[in-house]
Amino acid sequence: MLLEDGDVNCLCCLGERTCQIRFDRKARPYAVCLVCGSRIFLKTKQGLSGFAVLSPLIDAVRRQAKSDPNYAAELAQQLASLVGALHGRSTVPATSAASLTVTATADEVAA
Ligand SMILES: [Zn+2]
Repeated sequence: MLLEDGDVNCLCCLGERTCQIRFDRKARPYAVCLVCGSRIFLKTKQGLSGFAVLSPLIDAVRRQAKSDPNYAAELAQQLASLVGALHGRSTVPATSAASLTVTATADEVAA
């Protein structure tokens, strides 16, 4: 079950079950990633749809990346392309593309 321990995969860094869904004092959901530090604020509970639908897909991507080095390289290239495209309009260092991993887990974060 997706939320059995309250954690989901991070939609930003793809960390395995590193994202906690929390609620603010007005009961609006937000997500906090223990790996990349992303905080995603949602206006409504419908905003959780992406976590519900995409978290299992991230599991599939992680499994394929672990078993297929070419696929993992393709993912790294996709990140490099995005970072390269964004580099001109932000402070994203071009070298950060090399840091793409899909191996972080909540257990690794807690260690
Ligand atoms: Zn993250």
